[in-house]
Amino acid sequence: MRKITIVGAGQSGLQLGLGLLGHGYDVTIVSDRTGQEIREGRVLSSQCMFGTALSHERVLGLDFWDAECPAVHGLAVSVADGQGGRALSWSSRLDAPARSVDQRVKIPVWMEEFERRGGALVLRDVTAEDLDEYTRTSDLVIVAAGKGKISGVFERDAARSPYDQPQRALALTYVTGMTPRPDHSAVNFNIVPGVGEYFVFPALTTSGPCDIMVFEGVPGGPMDCWAEVTTPEEHLAKSLEILREFFPWEAERCAEVALTDAGGVLAGRFAPTVRKPVGELPSGAAVLGLADVVVLNDPITGQGSNNASKCAASYLASILEHGDRPFDRAFMEATFARYWDYAQYVTTWTNALLAPPPPHVLQVLGAANGSPVVARRFVNGFDDPRDFFLWLMDPAATEAYLASVAG
Ligand SMILES: Cc1cc2nc3c(=O)[nH]c(=O)nc-3n(C[C@H](O)[C@H](O)[C@H](O)COP(=O)(O)OP(=O)(O)OC[C@H]3O[C@@H](n4cnc5c(N)ncnc54)[C@H](O)[C@@H]3O)c2cc1C
Repeated sequence: MRKITIVGAGQSGLQLGLGLLGHGYDVTIVSDRTGQEIREGRVLSSQCMFGTALSHERVLGLDFWDAECPAVHGLAVSVADGQGGRALSWSSRLDAPARSVDQRVKIPVWMEEFERRGGALVLRDVTAEDLDEYTRTSDLVIVAAGKGKISGVFERDAARSPYDQPQRALALTYVTGMTPRPDHSAVNFNIVPGVGEYFVFPALTTSGPCDIMVFEGVPGGPMDCWAEVTTPEEHLAKSLEILREFFPWEAERCAEVALTDAGGVLAGRFAPTVRKPVGELPSGAAVLGLADVVVLNDPITGQGSNNASKCAASYLASILEHGDRPFDRAFMEATFARYWDYAQYVTTWTNALLAPPPPHVLQVLGAANGSPVVARRFVNGFDDPRDFFLWLMDPAATEAYLASVAG
């Protein structure tokens, strides 16, 4: 039986590990935290996942929360007018619902499921020396440690990483008591040009349904304001202050909100980074990076967990197709190249959204205000951002598309 060791028990590591178990591989996952520590800890993400990413979980029988977790049926876009109102505001439905299950709920259950299906779960904060040891005892070692320090064994790919500094000050606030949207559930995506973005959507957390607020502040601007916040209560107060000042139409929904729990807050920042897929260890042995370790995007487009799911599904297919041949460096490069064939579009689009929107994108957001066809196409691009490259990422393509819709 081929033995595969995965470092990191997050979205990608567990999904891949569970997929491999289903095909008879001997899989060990090494986690630096127990399920209980994760469940009782702080939130990690807003983890809203769209139809395709959810389908990869469903195939593996890991969609345990579909009945409990509120479905997100659409996406709504609002752009502020600079005078306390909105220059435009529209919404459209997703073809397949999205869902966000708090990773504090999902990951501990998947860890148990992994052991129940025959996987070996080891508790250890893995070092580069440990990786060397794993390469001696496994056919393949995969590092799925997210933003963990161990990702440093993979060299930054400067050609694919246009930013070397964080582009947003990030914050999450999990709340109960928010007034639902009037028509259908949605990710409400709000933009204040030059200041930042705020998005919010229903989710499932440890205590039941909630809403997750995500703040993306331009560094040095008024939404880059979390440094002085020291308690969860101050974090909620700061969140509401931002809404009242920059997103008053969203503040109206928050008259009754309360934090889900003391761990329902997070603030931080990181530079979006693509890394080389093969990590070279001191011994010369090679390890393969998975998901955020190798393609880490800013959360502004809500793609990280989606990418983690798609990367795990892509690597699973590559490993299965490789059969009994050695998992050498060429295999690792080819496996990543297959995923990058998709992920490069997500990265390019996400990095573009971090810059001020060019005129043709503003034109599309305006056109969607009056055209359900344009709105629907834009919204469903979040499930598969490659579509944006056919009509949104290039001014000439946008012009042709808008003309065809108008015609
Ligand atoms: C503020 C914020 C909002 C987000 N919102 C969304 C969203 O709405 N939609 C979306 O799709 N994505 C979102 N994301 C991104 C998403 O959460 C991540 O991209 C996704 O979880 C990555 O999965 P992963 O498996 O690569 O890594 P992770 O889920 O980070 O898992 C890595 C695991 O490895 C463990 N680990 C780390 N180092 C070691 C070590 N040395 N030894 C052993 N274990 C180790 C960690 O503890 C962790 O459990 C958001 C992220 C942030 C920060």
